[in-house]
Amino acid sequence: MGRAFERWILLGLGSIVFLIVLSADVAHRNTSRLHEDSLAVARSLEVLDALSDVDGSIKDAETGYRGFLITGEPRYLEPYQAASAVIGQRCDRLTSLTSNEPEQQARVARLRAGLDRKMKEMDQAIEAFGREGFRITISSIGDAVIVTDMSGRITSLNTIAQTLTGWCEADALGRNLEEVFCIFNEETRASVDNPVTKVLKDGMIVGLANHTILIARGGSERPIDDSAAPIRDAEGEIQGVVLVFRDVTDRRRAEQDLIDAKSYAESIVDTVREPLLVLGSDLRVGSASRSFCRTFGVEPEDVEGRDFFELAEGQWEIPALRKAICKVLPAANPVEDFEVDFVSPAVGRRTLLLSAAPIDHEGRRADQILVTFQDITKRKETEVLLKRQADALKEADTRKDEFLATLAHELRNPLAPIRNSLYIMRLVGDDREAVESSRAVIERQVLHLVRLVDDLLDISRISRNRLELKRELVELAAVIASAVEASRPLAERQGVELSVSPPPESTFLDADPVRLAQVFSNLLNNACKYTERGGHVRLTTAREGGEVSIAVEDDGVGIPAEMLPRIFDMFTQVDRSLERSQGGLGIGLTLVRRLVELHGGSVEAQSDGLGHGSRFIVRLPAAVKEAPKCDLDLGAGDLSGRSGKRRILVVDDNHDSADSLARMLRVLGNEVRTAYDGAEALDLSNTFRPELAFVDIGLPGMNGYDVSRRIREQPWGRDVTLVALTGWGQEEDHRRSTEAGFDHHVVKPADFDALSRILTN
Ligand code: ADP
Repeated sequence: MGRAFERWILLGLGSIVFLIVLSADVAHRNTSRLHEDSLAVARSLEVLDALSDVDGSIKDAETGYRGFLITGEPRYLEPYQAASAVIGQRCDRLTSLTSNEPEQQARVARLRAGLDRKMKEMDQAIEAFGREGFRITISSIGDAVIVTDMSGRITSLNTIAQTLTGWCEADALGRNLEEVFCIFNEETRASVDNPVTKVLKDGMIVGLANHTILIARGGSERPIDDSAAPIRDAEGEIQGVVLVFRDVTDRRRAEQDLIDAKSYAESIVDTVREPLLVLGSDLRVGSASRSFCRTFGVEPEDVEGRDFFELAEGQWEIPALRKAICKVLPAANPVEDFEVDFVSPAVGRRTLLLSAAPIDHEGRRADQILVTFQDITKRKETEVLLKRQADALKEADTRKDEFLATLAHELRNPLAPIRNSLYIMRLVGDDREAVESSRAVIERQVLHLVRLVDDLLDISRISRNRLELKRELVELAAVIASAVEASRPLAERQGVELSVSPPPESTFLDADPVRLAQVFSNLLNNACKYTERGGHVRLTTAREGGEVSIAVEDDGVGIPAEMLPRIFDMFTQVDRSLERSQGGLGIGLTLVRRLVELHGGSVEAQSDGLGHGSRFIVRLPAAVKEAPKCDLDLGAGDLSGRSGKRRILVVDDNHDSADSLARMLRVLGNEVRTAYDGAEALDLSNTFRPELAFVDIGLPGMNGYDVSRRIREQPWGRDVTLVALTGWGQEEDHRRSTEAGFDHHVVKPADFDALSRILTN
């Protein structure tokens, strides 16, 4: 009867082998797409399903069989008969599921033979019971049987019971059941109530508790299970109790193997790297893979049994997705790469491609859906980033093109009046008035050009983080006064009324006075430029705690709301048409913002829209200490009368530059010579012995630095005042010219002020 356990071993072995084969299969499919996943999962689930069916049938058959033997009641034979009728079919299903695996087929055949044998034994025992009755049966039954009388004393025990308890019949008969049948709980080691007492009390069949251990006479332990039932006489009176039990060591092992095999099968599903759900036909979650739980930060019990569309807090309740998933089973219509989002505090925002397909059962109508998720968050983020960069590059490129067009336009604009004025001067000859007005035009236009180039240089410095402030304690009123003075001529030309409310009390700032004046003058110039003739521009100041705010307000064209956030960006202009009347390069406000920020302040633009004027508010931290007034003479210098007669050498390879500067210096009463390269400059110096020399740095052949060094080497050269004339005004450029022996460094085009300071010193 040891064969009774064969089926468990076979079942366990069989299932493990199937699953190992399947695991290789499924693992191989890990990387493949939905359909392969679905087949693998389906096969694994189906084999498990078939095994569990066979197992269930055997259990049903045995339960019925034993119930009948113990009680003699034919109703117990019903489950037995029902199970034995389907065992054959269920084995057939296992056979067909492994049809491609000859090795597994052989195992299934062995399993089947074992089952047939067991069924035959049971059939024979049932038949014997019918023929010969209970007493004969207990000696031939494959389980241990002990019979007691009403007082619980042993009246008989079969050989298996003798083996398991370690008591021989002679010793056991007449003893109390507890003496021979010592049982306790496997986990708690507490002794378990004698089942016979309970049977006698209740008159019913009692099953032993799970995890019961029997201690044999020699002390050996083994797990057992089974039941006790009353024995009744013909009148139905209880005569005693029959206890049927069995050693379940092997079965336990087989069961454990089955459990391991099952969890192994589940772990195969888990090895599919993509998050995965198995849905039933009612769209409820049957199981969720470990990867799913990890990706979405949930536990399997949070999702299993729930409606798919309730998951992710309803984020996947999308009509189109619902429609598609509802069609998966009825129309065998898979869903492919449906993009869904998942947002949660635990995992943040994820973008996923959801696919769903029926799980393919061979020859059976699909009743489950496999849903997989492909996490494309990173890919999506990269795409968005690349798109943003591409857009930014495109935008920058467009702005650069527009800027170049604007720049060409802006540089050409002043050239026309300059050229016209020069013609006029040539034509009018001695007409002083006409000459003077032409000169004024040229001066204004040149000033405009210089300002454009200055702004460009400043922007370039800012972009390279090279702009440095020369900070000092300065009174705000003085800075405003100089800005207003610079902007007033434009206000007058534009016919705009400019009014200024100076700060109520003296306010000092730790600031670069020139740069700050540039900020206010830029804002004032803009206000004048973008206000119609007859309009008003007002500058007001206010103190707010440790901060001072300066507002430049106008009642001009205004700024549309959508432009306000971008108005300080480089090359931004509301009206980009080149025909607009008030040109500029679109860099003034960028400069304003950067300069204000360098001072630790902020600037804001306000406007109620086109036609409603604009308001720019600059906020700056006020300095704590009072300071003496700073002298800010930023206006054009007066060269007349400041210089005496000097011997001056002008060196520049640009003849026009050299000649015009020489002419101006001569007008001021100096003796001036010009040289157009370094060698000529040195030759001339030897004879001319200049007191002062303006030397361009970028000369062909010998550069300005070398000219300076060579002059300084001469005995007469030490006292010469050397002035570097250059387009470059960085710290580094100043340092290099000082090292080469220059006394001054003047950025071209030299303004009158700089020249006058040098000449008077
Ligand atoms: P621009 O050289 O074009 O004046 P800015 O950087 O100084 O360059 O100004 C950028 C744009 O902001 C201008 O082209 C103009 O459209 C708008 N803007 C600046 N100030 C004003 C203002 N006071 N009123 C209306 N629009 C203004």
